[in-house]
Amino acid sequence: MKMNSKPIIVCPDCGKEIEVLKACGASNFFCNHCNELKSSQRVKAANPIVFPAQPEK
Ligand SMILES: [Zn+2]
Repeated sequence: MKMNSKPIIVCPDCGKEIEVLKACGASNFFCNHCNELKSSQRVKAANPIVFPAQPEK
């Protein structure tokens, strides 16, 4: 079964849902549980389904 709703992105530290803040074409990730911004690199590493690895050239 596959949900068509938007994917849930989780915090790499606490595993709770993280908030995506989009500004100027860049995405920032803010965890309301940790109460801090998370590095997009770490968030992407923790959510491989939402952010598939880029194919290497
Ligand atoms: Zn967190």
